[in-house]
Amino acid sequence: MKEGQCRVAGSIGGQFKELISPFLQRKLDETGKRFGSGSRQYLAIARQYITDPREAFVDVDNERDRHYHSEQFTGVDGTRLRGIERLYRRTGLMILTTACKAHCRWCLRGQYDVDTLSPEEIRSAAKHFGSPACRDDVREILITGGDPLMARVLVECAIAEISQHAPNVEIIRIGTRMFMQDPGRIDDAMVAMFNKYRHLRFEIGTHFNHPVEFWPETVESMWRLQEAGVLIYNQHPLLKGVNDSLETLDELYDLLRGHAVEAHYLFHCVPMFGMNHHRTSVTRGLELINRLTSSGAFSGRAKPHFAAMTDIGKVSLYEETILKRSDANEILLQTGYRLDDRTRWNPSYLPPRSAEVDDEGFMRVWYKDGCDDPYETDRPHDELPALIPLVAAVARS
Ligand code: SF4
Repeated sequence: MKEGQCRVAGSIGGQFKELISPFLQRKLDETGKRFGSGSRQYLAIARQYITDPREAFVDVDNERDRHYHSEQFTGVDGTRLRGIERLYRRTGLMILTTACKAHCRWCLRGQYDVDTLSPEEIRSAAKHFGSPACRDDVREILITGGDPLMARVLVECAIAEISQHAPNVEIIRIGTRMFMQDPGRIDDAMVAMFNKYRHLRFEIGTHFNHPVEFWPETVESMWRLQEAGVLIYNQHPLLKGVNDSLETLDELYDLLRGHAVEAHYLFHCVPMFGMNHHRTSVTRGLELINRLTSSGAFSGRAKPHFAAMTDIGKVSLYEETILKRSDANEILLQTGYRLDDRTRWNPSYLPPRSAEVDDEGFMRVWYKDGCDDPYETDRPHDELPALIPLVAAVARS
């Protein structure tokens, strides 16, 4: 393992800037007072948002700086495109802004440059998704970031442009953590925006990582959008030290069901710069998903898919998905993605070095596994004991 510097957005001295919204800070303080700063409830929030000294240790050869390299740079008519990606037949992706209300330490977005699309760029993207190259296939646009609800005006701009220029799009998905980071932003204007475009289906993807995040204000803000006909679904990482226990996941999925939030993906924590301490092994994830989905502790309608975000897209994980393992703790995963499909849908696409194509044209991808050392003693670094005082100091402040 080599120590290296991250190329991170909003970084100070090579580290992802710590950013905790006032709402979250209040919840941290309240949770610390109510349950104690060593409680699982407190640590579930603190470990998501408070900088950990282990973030400085980066395995530059094996960790990742981006989700996928699937940007589309040029539209069919030669126009320059920015902030759009395409990996899949039915779904196009628009990265509206990389700004967020709080910085989740485990999120790859922290390593993207801070950027926001202009209204003109949004229009170009919408026109591209409605162009002959896309209109027979693309049915959904995922508006993501960062957190798009940081800029409601731009979200509304995107919805209006898509409505006008890409009538083939029936579903608009938006990724946000505003419910648990700043629920007051789900205000009347936000609700009115969704009500105005009732001809579209809106789905909001959020990340509940732990049961403690179902605060009353959070639930109320979701309910406002659900009343406006917005479907909310959850996809979240398996985070060592936060939610990597059956009891926590049972409770989380029971709460999701109770609040009409659809369960979507449970992700294996993605390999990213400085985040090894949050990553379990894939095998541990498979053990948990096997028990979770047959525990009987919550409704069967709330069972998630266990998946990895690999360099070539999301891959559902089963024992048989793993073809082999290397000495460098990497596993080769079989996927159903075909390279010829990918390049047809996105002519800018180049397969990453970690991908191989099998005899039938399907891609396989090498994926860095995690490990099952306990969260508190995960290696390597020598300053680990400093972590506990750091968390305790924040709890006191
Ligand atoms: S999970 Fe969402 S809110 Fe958190 S850092 Fe990533 S993009 Fe921002």
